[in-house]
Amino acid sequence: MVYSKLFTQDIKFLAGVGPKRAEILKSELDIASFGDMLYYFPYKYVDRTKFYRCNEIRGNMSHVQIKGKITSLESVGEGRKQRLTAMFSDGTGIIELIWFKGIKYVQTQLKSGGEFIVFGKPTAFNGRYNIVHPELETVAEHQLNVAGSIQAFYITSEKMKRSYLSSKAILKIQSNLQSSLKDVYETFPAWFVEKLKLMSLKEALKNIHFPENNEQLKRAQFRLKFEELFYIQMKLLSLRSKRLEKFKGHVFQSIGDVFNRFFHECIPFELTNAQKKVLREIRKDVGNGHQMNRLLQGDVGSGKTLVALMTMLMAIDNGTQACLMAPTEILANQHFKTISELLKPLGLNVGLLTGSTKQRARKELHSAIEDGSMEILIGTHALIENKVKFKNLGMVVVDEQHRFGVAQRAKLWNKNTIPPHVLVMTATPIPRTLAMTLYGDLDVSVIDELPPGRKPVKTIHYFDNKRKLVYDFIRKEIKSGRQAYIVYPLIEESEKLDYKNLQDGYETVRKVFPEFEIAMVHGKMKPAEKDAEMMRFKNKGANILVSTTVIEVGVDVPNASIMVIESSERFGLSQLHQLRGRVGRGADQSYCVLMSSYKLSKESQIRMNTMVRTTDGFDIAETDLKLRGPGDIDGTQQSGVGFNLKISNLGRDGEILQFARNIAQEIMKEDPLLQYDKHRIFSRELKKMKQTTFNWSVIS
Ligand code: ADP
Ligand code: MG
Repeated sequence: MVYSKLFTQDIKFLAGVGPKRAEILKSELDIASFGDMLYYFPYKYVDRTKFYRCNEIRGNMSHVQIKGKITSLESVGEGRKQRLTAMFSDGTGIIELIWFKGIKYVQTQLKSGGEFIVFGKPTAFNGRYNIVHPELETVAEHQLNVAGSIQAFYITSEKMKRSYLSSKAILKIQSNLQSSLKDVYETFPAWFVEKLKLMSLKEALKNIHFPENNEQLKRAQFRLKFEELFYIQMKLLSLRSKRLEKFKGHVFQSIGDVFNRFFHECIPFELTNAQKKVLREIRKDVGNGHQMNRLLQGDVGSGKTLVALMTMLMAIDNGTQACLMAPTEILANQHFKTISELLKPLGLNVGLLTGSTKQRARKELHSAIEDGSMEILIGTHALIENKVKFKNLGMVVVDEQHRFGVAQRAKLWNKNTIPPHVLVMTATPIPRTLAMTLYGDLDVSVIDELPPGRKPVKTIHYFDNKRKLVYDFIRKEIKSGRQAYIVYPLIEESEKLDYKNLQDGYETVRKVFPEFEIAMVHGKMKPAEKDAEMMRFKNKGANILVSTTVIEVGVDVPNASIMVIESSERFGLSQLHQLRGRVGRGADQSYCVLMSSYKLSKESQIRMNTMVRTTDGFDIAETDLKLRGPGDIDGTQQSGVGFNLKISNLGRDGEILQFARNIAQEIMKEDPLLQYDKHRIFSRELKKMKQTTFNWSVIS
């Protein structure tokens, strides 16, 4: 980022802009200053040195440039229906050029005769190619405008185009802006630019809009992407060093009695190596005097709950309390039951606090928490209400964190004079590049192994014509004692429609399976009703659970072995993966059936194929990131980290990001507070980021 006076110069004063266009640029692209415009980067480049022949044109080309002559010209219709058609030939074939607008202008242009250069997207029609509204230049004009150049293209909106702010117009504005490059100053120290063999910022900002050649363009892109990602990493890492500096954490000296007894007496199975590894990482964190801030990633069913529980026991062994916060009542209840059950032999005092905890019980909980007689509290965000005062809270576990606002998490910090250690668990695998950026200041542990004996869920994609087959299969499985989920999509535009969708589904399922008990849950039910239906299913009082995506997160019914997802093309990949994670939790082979209509977009097709191909959550998350871009990924928005990336793409620039992180780590390791003289420019740029790019206070 440049922070020169360029960012205070109003764009309306730039040649070729003016007040009216300035307003449009502001409202459409949020461009207000010279600097903003300079940092409005092209989305693609076209090599204008390359000429095609008419007989080389193919339908899938995005652009062609041809030199030739007009062989005939015809105007049909009148007024708004008028159309101008020209036959254009270069001796190897003929293409048709068509105009609906600006016809007078084109006619005058064409009068000069001679050779023209046309440029545009070819479309096949009636056995011939045509170009609608091609760019048209005489050879002389071409020399002047773009000859020998790689031309940049900018994204523009309909509204912009109506005010003649086309990509070409932006390019013209950019060229007027190039003289301001003299006001750009370098944002890296000279030794750094040299050491990493980077292009200078000035050169990069020139070549990104007006590349000298392909190689210079690549270097410019690298420089700008690297800078963007590097400073984000520097910011995250410096936040982390400051946090470590500032917050002293509870020191958990040793693993004690409770932990050991639990480990030896209460766990009915061997911990996986991944679980052991993560527990060691946590153990190290909580013993070193700093506050732990750790993200625990693990695919559905990888056994995060157990790790969380054992982490809480470390806190209890060291004379503090622990709490676990879940995003929904169902989940809080489930955790409470699992954990109370597991802890029974140890005689610990475990409480449950949710929105539906009755007033009297709530009062008792409050006082038990305050006098310290309650060791573990499990609940929903009722936990973080101000009324809840812990005697000495040492450990907070946040489950399925993408449902929790970061601000809510931050509230927990204030629950003790020494801030509690925090373990955040997420079952939505986050691609490494994204994790590095979103959680770059957290330490990350990954459980990358499932408990032994799990059979991967078999996934099948069927079109509607296989419905009967699917029903027969469900019947067979249920008769052999299993249970099934049937999930309907949430149609966000219309809650009514959503409900109707589900109701219709429910009626159908009842008709198809009159012999079975059918439960139903959806988002609009009261929590108590919902829980009752869920419990009915869990306790085998119902064979089939018809639902919307409310069962997405964390629900555990090991006996369910079939997950049917209706209209699955409407779901995102991570959602499909979460839903599939509801089955395959017991010893039986489980199945996931993706039902869809015939009409699938290319993207939906990729989603289906990915689900059928793999059960690896990280693989799926990577694909998801590539398909959707980081802004859309579940949880990115809620996490409140508005990375406003101008040039990098976390889906594609993973290598540059990794490189930037490594370099940033080296620097921060050498000089955590950036006090050395040679790092002065870094700290100057970081300080400027605080005021501009994003709201850092939300990361804690
Ligand atoms: P998630 O990571 O999705 O929260 P859970 O913690 O709910 O996964 O664990 C899923 C299931 O696996 C639970 O029934 C749990 O008891 C079981 N489990 C956890 N760890 C192991 C292990 N090491 N060996 C066998 N089963 C395990
Ligand atoms: Mg879980």
